[in-house]
Amino acid sequence: MSFIPSRTAGLDRLAAFLPRAGRTYAETRNHDEGSERANVSQLSPWLHAGLLRETEVIDRVLGHHSHRAAEKFIAEVFWRIYFKGYLEQRPTIWQAYCTERDEALGALDGNSGLRKAYDEAVEGRTGIAAFDLWARELAETGYLHNHARMWFASIWIFTLKLDWQLGADFFLRHLADGDAASNTLSWRWVGGLHTQGKTYLARPDNIARYTAHHPAGPLAAEGLAEDAPALEEGREHGRRQLDVPKAPSPEVFEQPYALILHDEAASHAPLDLPRPPALVIGAARPDARSPGRVGRIARTFALEAVRGGLEEAAAAFGCDSREWGLDDNLAEILGTAAIDRVVVPHLPVGWTRDALMPALAPLIDDQRATILVDDLDRATWPHARAGFFGVKKQIDGILGELGITGTRDPA
Ligand SMILES: Cc1cc2nc3c(=O)[nH]c(=O)nc-3n(C[C@H](O)[C@H](O)[C@H](O)COP(=O)(O)OP(=O)(O)OC[C@H]3O[C@@H](n4cnc5c(N)ncnc54)[C@H](O)[C@@H]3O)c2cc1C
Repeated sequence: MSFIPSRTAGLDRLAAFLPRAGRTYAETRNHDEGSERANVSQLSPWLHAGLLRETEVIDRVLGHHSHRAAEKFIAEVFWRIYFKGYLEQRPTIWQAYCTERDEALGALDGNSGLRKAYDEAVEGRTGIAAFDLWARELAETGYLHNHARMWFASIWIFTLKLDWQLGADFFLRHLADGDAASNTLSWRWVGGLHTQGKTYLARPDNIARYTAHHPAGPLAAEGLAEDAPALEEGREHGRRQLDVPKAPSPEVFEQPYALILHDEAASHAPLDLPRPPALVIGAARPDARSPGRVGRIARTFALEAVRGGLEEAAAAFGCDSREWGLDDNLAEILGTAAIDRVVVPHLPVGWTRDALMPALAPLIDDQRATILVDDLDRATWPHARAGFFGVKKQIDGILGELGITGTRDPA
């Protein structure tokens, strides 16, 4: 399976997966069948890049299956929205992760034993056959099955006893779907920091059972830790009030504006803008994922998603386009085009926000920036205050309220 960074490729992938998104998904999703897997959607890179939106994925799935049959798939998509909403309300988790990751990376330089253990883990040379295969698969394909991610993170933390932040960084540098919220919070969940005290222990029999159909399976994992004591951290990450900008009035779009596409919103198509922009700006920042080297697949996916999105938007709107590179000044780009307003799809807590916000903040302060928040995020995030259950019980109501009831043949 290769990931082509365009909206068309994402829509094709969605169409191909639709027949399996119902009961088949619910019954088979936990099996890791190797890189040719068809039992999970592998839509996450397109969702992360905003080439596809959760709303349209759910709507198409409901066009093919009853809500009951597609319940499991829809709930998984809501996990993604839940994690985003949770991190929006606890941004200190991301800030602490970045600081602790940098400290852990720094500590590798002064400790040869630790460096050796880390290198063996990321290069797939630990001697734990399953783990080594996943380490190589991740670097070679930019993807790992969800169950493999759980086993991998558990072995990293509890058997290899490496810092979870180093593992989360390894994932972010290589996953084509690398996502600040889903990745950071999933690693914390495995380590017992998300649902406090509840950890995930990888077991050899469970790995063998769910990799039975893998071309190299059933995969062996010998010498794994037999218990998983929860990690501890010396601080609480308190919840802050959600600060979601109001939905903009149509008049906002009447003055000339520049639309900014970025790593997490690379396509204009799902934004459904009431009036076209005068300029489209593309800002890709994949190297901001980590101070380390970002893997080729993850990096190329992000760069080409934004580049392609920029070209498509310029063609669709008949307007100019500009790349906003690392050495460019946003104010100058806008000045040259004689535009002083921007429209920006929401920048979730994470590296894209960290990289772009310093240049955008003055425009926001001057009320010259309009931030677009997806209706599904807006409706779901207030429920992402604690555990996933708070969101899960709202799913039917949210879908009904937003009229996401199923489209079989999109226009
Ligand atoms: C340690 C760890 C790290 C992870 N890091 C990331 C990450 O960086 N980016 C990322 O998108 N997901 C991450 N996940 C969640 C999950 O593994 C992937 O979203 C999923 O495997 C993507 O494959 P898929 O598209 O085939 O999923 P499917 O099973 O087909 O699910 C459909 C969609 O639902 C969402 N989804 C499914 N499972 C989860 C989940 N457990 N949590 C959040 N959303 C989910 C994804 O958007 C996915 O595309 C991580 C999980 C773990 C355990």
